[in-house]
Amino acid sequence: SGGDDTVSGGGKGDSRDTHVYRVSYRRLFQLAKPELLVLCFAVVALFVSAVANLALPTFAGDVIDAVTRHPDTPEGKAATYVKVNQKLVQIVAVVIVGSIATSMRVYLFTSASERVVARLKRDLFGSLVRQEVAFFDVTRTGELMSRLSEDTQIIKNAVTLNLSELLRGISTALLGLSYMFVKSWRLTCLTLVIVPAVAIGIRQYGKYLKELSRKTQAASAAAAAVAEECIGAIRTVRAFAQEGSESERYREKVEVSLTLGLHQACVGGLFSGGMFAAATLSLVAVMWYGAHLAVSGGMSPGSLASFIIYALTVGFSVASLAGIYATVMKALGAGERVFHLLDREPSMVKAGSKRPMGDEAGGEVRLQKVWFAYPSRPSRWVLKGVNLTLLPGSKLALVGPSGGGKSTIANLVERFYDPQTGVITLDGCPLPEISHDYLHRQISIVSQEPVLFNTTIAENIAYGSEPSASSATAIQLAATMANAHEFISQFPEGYENLVGERGVRLSGGQKQRIAIARALLMSPRVLLLDEATSALDAESEYLVQDAMDRLMVGRTTLVIAHRLSTVQSAHVVAVVDKGVIVERGSHAELLERNGIYAGLVRRQLQGGTGLGGTA
Ligand code: ADP
Repeated sequence: SGGDDTVSGGGKGDSRDTHVYRVSYRRLFQLAKPELLVLCFAVVALFVSAVANLALPTFAGDVIDAVTRHPDTPEGKAATYVKVNQKLVQIVAVVIVGSIATSMRVYLFTSASERVVARLKRDLFGSLVRQEVAFFDVTRTGELMSRLSEDTQIIKNAVTLNLSELLRGISTALLGLSYMFVKSWRLTCLTLVIVPAVAIGIRQYGKYLKELSRKTQAASAAAAAVAEECIGAIRTVRAFAQEGSESERYREKVEVSLTLGLHQACVGGLFSGGMFAAATLSLVAVMWYGAHLAVSGGMSPGSLASFIIYALTVGFSVASLAGIYATVMKALGAGERVFHLLDREPSMVKAGSKRPMGDEAGGEVRLQKVWFAYPSRPSRWVLKGVNLTLLPGSKLALVGPSGGGKSTIANLVERFYDPQTGVITLDGCPLPEISHDYLHRQISIVSQEPVLFNTTIAENIAYGSEPSASSATAIQLAATMANAHEFISQFPEGYENLVGERGVRLSGGQKQRIAIARALLMSPRVLLLDEATSALDAESEYLVQDAMDRLMVGRTTLVIAHRLSTVQSAHVVAVVDKGVIVERGSHAELLERNGIYAGLVRRQLQGGTGLGGTA
């Protein structure tokens, strides 16, 4: 597998990774393996329909021979009519069998392809959500979306529908050729003279298309990424009146794929024209020589007619094979990208299975000599040897200038990233050794801009909690403690009300209180709070603060503090600047020291910036 290849390996190994992931044809068709039985039936249907379709020209030739070579007597004519009618009955029977087989073929192949793409999408999404956070720092969402929707679609068509067309084309061509040999081997050899030329043409065209498809998909993914970013930030775009420039940015990306598409159209046109010319010119040769044979008595007119129909049928099949070859080439390109993602192993050390304190109360968090740089910027240390201890149930406030590394500390405690050196422990156990589920039940982030999912309020509150712990009463209790019950009850559908995408139908304060209710229900031992930025009116601020206070009772809390009241109530205040803890102690001790912290507090009191350095 390609697991050793890490996209997020740093500055150069980003999403533009051009590493060519060679995917074998086998891998692509393996996707269809679970459908093997269905596909077998489909192939049987395919052969039945191919044989039936190819029998028709022979019948047609027989009819022509019957009407051109009958004795010119009344009895002879009557016998001819009987013969022709018999042939027609046979033709109708063959048509019926052929049609039923065709229906079966199309249905079986199409349904198999639908199941294949559904499975592929599920697996791909499963692999995506397991990737480490750093992967998403360097990969554009729009690109991933394009992998999920466009590329899987291309593959779907290749593995089954085109497989069906491919088999049909090949079997029709082979069967047609054998009929042709039976009719006249001389004429058949004449027809085959053009085959090498056609084969070379198809091969070159396929190579060209594969390369082009890679470029086209990259361009379309880039366009999707721009669209995704802009639509996701539509309020910002509107607020800065950037609709025009965003459209321009998108237009530029679309222009790239348009240029590629036009190029493809041009080459495709030349290719089709060339194929048509080769096929028809060889037919002219066949007619010329066939006419000779018919006149000299070497071949009956009916045989010549059916031979020409066979030659046409074979010609069309070969032409359709060229088209299929093209889509298979495209699918190989899409396959490279999809399998690359599907096989990617998260670069973060897999979580262990320990549950340090079991069900006992605990919640001690320790950072020891932690050095950390974001994988997307590996050359820049963001934390430089941070030591911190949070005793069970204590409250630690982080303050300091913006960009100093406060949120990074919270990110590491939540294990979004692992530090390059040093350890972070929960109840004495290093985070990577702790079971993933256990860790994230014990540690919970409540930020000031919480993200809600587009479902009901109740489901948002229960998000992440055990189903057994999230009964309607438990949810309501948590909401009440979070000062959220009152406003929720005022919604027409109460707890069943939908919150809209990312919670757009709620105010900032309401979203926060729902996030607090979520944390209360989950009841983690360690809380990570982020007080940054959000400006609330006094009333909502009071309600949120009150709910927060209730949430913090008895839990180890690490808070990125901006308010004076928060630092005053903390057991320890740590000042983080440029990745280093420069001062630590209680609020009173630090004021007395009259260092950076005292300066921050003075500025806050003068109504300037917050303690976190932001306005
Ligand atoms: P604070 O919370 O104190 O304002 P942060 O921890 O957010 O500071 O940021 C510390 C430094 O890390 C900043 O220089 C910031 O640019 C950088 N940084 C934050 N997040 C990322 C990220 N996901 N990828 C790369 N660099 C980051």
